[in-house]
Amino acid sequence: MAKVKGDIVVDIEKCKGCELCAQACPQDALELSRQVNSKGYLYIVKIEDNCTGCTNCSLVCPEGVIKVYRKTVDNKEHIATISDVKGDIKVTVAS
Ligand code: SF4
Ligand code: SF4
Repeated sequence: MAKVKGDIVVDIEKCKGCELCAQACPQDALELSRQVNSKGYLYIVKIEDNCTGCTNCSLVCPEGVIKVYRKTVDNKEHIATISDVKGDIKVTVAS
């Protein structure tokens, strides 16, 4: 089955830094910034690239400033088949 990968975009100028989204994230992917936005609030940033697109953060955000995206990743991409190897083989991958 194809794996689902998620991503979020936060409107940081409207974030109030309440951290409800960070508490709701099962992936521990969200954290408060070290800097403030133009209104003086710390804002939320993504610190891990492990978002599953579950939408928890977006659902709990009282400001409605998180957009969640999902894409399907085929984690079994077929690259090559090597068979009937009788001795040493050397594989060079072009950069
Ligand atoms: S969509 Fe889910 S996994 Fe992704 S950041 Fe939000 S709560 Fe975390
Ligand atoms: S729940 Fe919304 S307002 Fe609160 S920290 Fe997260 S993005 Fe900001």
